[in-house]
Amino acid sequence: MTMRVGVFGGTFDPIHLAHLRMARAFADELALDQVKLIPAGQPYHRDSGPHASPRQRLEMVKLAIEGDARLQSDDREVRRAKPAYTVDTLRELRAELGDAAELWFLIGGDSLFNLSSWQEWRELFRLANLAVAMRPGFDAAALPPEVRQEWDTRQVHDFSNRTASGTIRPLALPPFDLSATRLREMLAANEAVEGLIAPAALAYIRQHGLYR
Ligand code: ATP
Repeated sequence: MTMRVGVFGGTFDPIHLAHLRMARAFADELALDQVKLIPAGQPYHRDSGPHASPRQRLEMVKLAIEGDARLQSDDREVRRAKPAYTVDTLRELRAELGDAAELWFLIGGDSLFNLSSWQEWRELFRLANLAVAMRPGFDAAALPPEVRQEWDTRQVHDFSNRTASGTIRPLALPPFDLSATRLREMLAANEAVEGLIAPAALAYIRQHGLYR
């Protein structure tokens, strides 16, 4: 049996309900054996305002995914002293899983707009398949031409011929309007966020006084 592994990288500052819906739809729609949630170590550029540390973001991911056996946290980027490029993380996973495994990388539709600025971005398609979760307002026609070309030529909707890498699959999951930025603002303003974040992750935020 081919192993099907999903990878979901993010800052997760903090992990929120849209992330969890995406991770679950990713596992369901692509029949994945597991989804690895990989919090970024030190992000390259951050806006101002309070942020959680890499360890705290990892801890919140662990708390939020408890109870769904398909979802697993992966601390490889947090353990690294330097920022990790996605391509390096996928190379590492490909080496661990072998050539036959189906490897899927999940991103939000907004991230497609800067995909071509990522380190060795075309290499991503050699290493993995790409799943895209739509964000409200997504418009493929507005993608940069080099990304638009990959979007137009690599999309596969019929899964009778699954491959280890190189295809793009938009998830059917309806867009959900929520960002960690918005959540941090709400927390800083003492607004109610129940229902937008896993209760255990929210309890952690309150306990550690994060985002105030
Ligand atoms: P921030 O507001 O701090 O930039 P974020 O909510 O976008 O955070 P990240 O941790 O940066 O969350 O996102 C990880 C991945 O999840 C990215 O690929 C991002 O595009 C995607 N993502 C986050 N929220 C959504 C959403 N509501 N719908 C679709 N994709 C999302």
